[in-house]
Amino acid sequence: MRTIGILGGGQLGRMLALAGYPLGLRFRFLDPSPQACAGDVGELIVGDYSDPQVLAQFVAGLDCVTYEFENVPLDAASTLATFCPVYPPPAALATAQSRLIEKQFFSRLNIPVVPFVPIDDTSDLDHARHELGLPMLFKLRRYGYDGKGQVVIRTADELPHAWAELNSEPVLAERLIPFERELSLIAVRSLRGTMAYYPLIENLHQGGILHRSLVPAMPPQHALQLEAETYARRVLDALDYVGVLVLEFFQLDGHLIINEMAPRVHNSGHWTIEGAETSQFENHLRAILGLPLGATTLRGHVAMLNLIGSVPDLAAVLKFAGTHLHTYNKAPRAGRKVGHITVRADDPATLQQMLADVAQVVG
Ligand code: AMP
Repeated sequence: MRTIGILGGGQLGRMLALAGYPLGLRFRFLDPSPQACAGDVGELIVGDYSDPQVLAQFVAGLDCVTYEFENVPLDAASTLATFCPVYPPPAALATAQSRLIEKQFFSRLNIPVVPFVPIDDTSDLDHARHELGLPMLFKLRRYGYDGKGQVVIRTADELPHAWAELNSEPVLAERLIPFERELSLIAVRSLRGTMAYYPLIENLHQGGILHRSLVPAMPPQHALQLEAETYARRVLDALDYVGVLVLEFFQLDGHLIINEMAPRVHNSGHWTIEGAETSQFENHLRAILGLPLGATTLRGHVAMLNLIGSVPDLAAVLKFAGTHLHTYNKAPRAGRKVGHITVRADDPATLQQMLADVAQVVG
């Protein structure tokens, strides 16, 4: 029996394990929190990612290591890689951990990005205004997620205040673009080099947090789907990538502009559990173990609704046919993702009606 080690014990780790049990896999998680919700479904080692003793205890007997969040310390990933294979490759982590390195990487691969300027000191503020115009957006280069560590700047006067608000840390200034919608692509590349792509997903955010995902976002073989797959292939090849990789795009004037990537399974892909032939979680495991990838075809029209802050009454949601509820057993807290609902229908009109019904219960 093979044992997979997962760095991070959140809901993504939990769903990876749930997808892996039918394949006969075992799981061990490493997380600094004893409350990590993946501990419900596998062995949980509680400790610091940078503690060599903890890493040694974690890696003993593992066949392979993967991670469920991208802020894993690079040193930890590299240390573990001396004991057993670590996928996706640590080079993908290094790229995704810095918004600046990531944007420069996309530019080198000729993948369109929004105009950006790195800000390291006050003299860069004028340069950014000149290069980008207004409005613009400051983003912390590291550890920003769910819209945290971001400030919108609409007038020149706001520039120094906005930077002070982010503690004058190195930031990335980006032109604020009037995108039409946000899309993500889940790509997967196996140890054998085979690649597969899910249909593009439309994502709706509220307050910087993913609120809803919808598939299909467009008909099959749409030009945007092919564009997204072309860009994904460039990234997968450049990083000699293994596992699931998610690219997040803005759609503007009939084209895609890349915003960021996640070298892991992703919230916008939770619907794949019931809505695709093979889930992103199972395909990630297949990829890192060198097994054949599963089909990524859709099973109807699907939507995923994040449960943020609290989980509704199970019975009230489950009474709707075609509805699946996942609760992560995390302590409810404002702004915290504590579960999700997937709704599946045969046509878009039925899906919209079902979503309206479910939304009434979720609030
Ligand atoms: P991020 O942390 O980069 O995913 O940004 C969080 C959210 O802010 C995105 O989902 C977008 O809704 C918005 N956003 C980020 N960058 C830009 C941009 N350059 N122009 C307009 N909106 C943006």
